[in-house]
Amino acid sequence: MNQPLRYLSTRGVAPELDFGEALVTGLATDGGLYCPESVPAMPQLPPLDAPYHEVAYSVTKPFVEGVIDDGEYRAMTEDAYRSFRHVDVAPVMSLGGNTYMADLSKGPTLAFKDFALQLVGRLLDHELEKHDRRVTVIGATSGDTGSAAIEALANRNRVDVVILHPEGRVSEVQRRQMTTVVAPNIRNVAVDGTFDDCQDLVKAAFADADLRAKFNLAAVNSINWGRVMAQIVYYVTAWRAVAPDGGPVSFSVPTGNFGNILSAWYAKRMGVPISKLIVASNRNDVLTRFFETGRLTAETVVPSLSPSMDIQVSSNFERLLWEASNRDGESVAALLAEFRAEGDVEVPESWVDAIRSEFAASRLSDEGTLAEIRRVHDELGLIVDPHTAVGIHGARKYASLEAEIPMVVMGTADPAKFGDAVESAIGLRPELPSFLSELFARQEVYGRSLADLESIVGFLDDVSRS
Ligand SMILES: *Cc1c(COP(=O)(O)O)cnc(C)c1O
Repeated sequence: MNQPLRYLSTRGVAPELDFGEALVTGLATDGGLYCPESVPAMPQLPPLDAPYHEVAYSVTKPFVEGVIDDGEYRAMTEDAYRSFRHVDVAPVMSLGGNTYMADLSKGPTLAFKDFALQLVGRLLDHELEKHDRRVTVIGATSGDTGSAAIEALANRNRVDVVILHPEGRVSEVQRRQMTTVVAPNIRNVAVDGTFDDCQDLVKAAFADADLRAKFNLAAVNSINWGRVMAQIVYYVTAWRAVAPDGGPVSFSVPTGNFGNILSAWYAKRMGVPISKLIVASNRNDVLTRFFETGRLTAETVVPSLSPSMDIQVSSNFERLLWEASNRDGESVAALLAEFRAEGDVEVPESWVDAIRSEFAASRLSDEGTLAEIRRVHDELGLIVDPHTAVGIHGARKYASLEAEIPMVVMGTADPAKFGDAVESAIGLRPELPSFLSELFARQEVYGRSLADLESIVGFLDDVSRS
């Protein structure tokens, strides 16, 4: 068997870990994120008509090899995608011309987060069982991670869960998908603050060594390497769907925390011939401004019609900065400390150039988002959610520059998850799939908290069996 791949922290101080340890640890003890020491070349892929889970197994196996038994891993990948409501799991459809959409909304909570969390939940249980351990997962959500994590982790034996969401800033369907799942190992907390406040509370909990040890804190936020890994797969299947001869492809990805599009970057490193990666932002456009100015400048988060992208600190961008710096953890740590302290930092020119050579960026206002939903509906008879609409706009901005290269938009959610926005765009309310028709009748259970670590600790105390 090959030596297991090692995982390194982007801040260069925390110990190197193997896949299982990095999965369970989440955030590194130096505040950094774990990344693979080397990116494996694309393994031999199964035939084009193979089921999604077989591609998932082949593409991700090199990342877990030597830690998880091959047969057990194959069974986990097969099980993870069973609950998806489409035979292709991530079906690809035409949006006209050379533009396509990979529909990532067919999982149990109707957003792309299910792809990673369904697998990560199983991986986590497997690792904890193996080492006879328990963890308490603490997570911040802008809406979709929370429901996907709860769906994947409810009633699991070795995991307790506290999920923080910004009160009043997630859609009603998103909130209900979280708060109507009643399980002894789940606590939902509505925090008086923004998503970034929620994410800061999670980071503060992790930064407190006593808390971390007392509750065996773990993270399944998109900083968890397991999630980035699982998402690589649908970039491979989408590429093979639109370029079966192996030709180049571009992707436009509705972006918030930079987790989804980072997986595309890893797919490229593994060998998918990706031409452009388009970072499509809503009005909370810290990344788009970075591409324009070479600076990271935090502004206040403004609620938008695409709440899962209402973020001004895109955590996963740190992984790209680390690679762009030639893995200079010390400089990455210094840069991010300055950003945190000043709210503004100039990124070294060589890093900016490296990033600009592979990515482009777009932004779309709420009015533009409504217009895009309307246009897609008028021209294609297709109803898309506001996040996907932001991605389609990004694709249109760049598709004509390389018209011969297929452009794939990642369709990140089902429009029924964001019914209000869709209704105000086209006057029609998309229906929830029938398996969720009970959602509005169910009792909601959740706590409330100020954006204050001490009261979050109360929720940890209440649920944790660690
Ligand atoms: C999470 C989410 C995004 C943003 O993805 P990141 O990985 O955070 O960049 C976009 N659209 C939807 C529907 C989401 O749930």
